[in-house]
Amino acid sequence: MEFCSKCGGMLLVEGDKAPACAKCGYKFKGKLKIQSSEKIAVPDRIAVVDESKLNTYPIIEIKCPSCKQKEAYFWTMQTRSSDESETKFYKCVKCEHTWRTYR
Ligand SMILES: [Zn+2]
Ligand SMILES: [Zn+2]
Repeated sequence: MEFCSKCGGMLLVEGDKAPACAKCGYKFKGKLKIQSSEKIAVPDRIAVVDESKLNTYPIIEIKCPSCKQKEAYFWTMQTRSSDESETKFYKCVKCEHTWRTYR
């Protein structure tokens, strides 16, 4: 079962469609599973959390290295040219620790 990161309501997932919140109606971008279709180009060395967008990021199961919480927001960013691998970002839902991984 997945829950809305905005209001905590239950998410309705229908087949391949983007999940939507049953309570507030908020539609999530893409699927909840890890995917990398959403690429955001950012200038070099800038890799910060866009707080206004955080609520649109899916929450995935991953262990926070800081507090051991098992859920974190997930998003990806293309840091430089498109030939470079994208960077995966995670932000703990509990302690807000943010970390990243390179492929
Ligand atoms: Zn909601
Ligand atoms: Zn944490």
